[in-house]
Amino acid sequence: MKVEILDTCTACGLCESINNEVFKVNDMAHVTNSKIKGNEDDCRLAAAQCPAGAIIISE
Ligand code: SF4
Repeated sequence: MKVEILDTCTACGLCESINNEVFKVNDMAHVTNSKIKGNEDDCRLAAAQCPAGAIIISE
């Protein structure tokens, strides 16, 4: 799985609240690629709930 953050991210923090190993938010959300494995469901949930539609998942 690949997780990409678009620059439409508003740094709302929701993705980090869903999974703070994969997602860290400062100026915008950042993904730690090495943490994706085992957290795929949280990645999909964050992508579905991101209010900016800024989390793009590719399998
Ligand atoms: S949930 Fe979306 S808009 Fe909010 S910080 Fe994460 S990527 Fe950015």
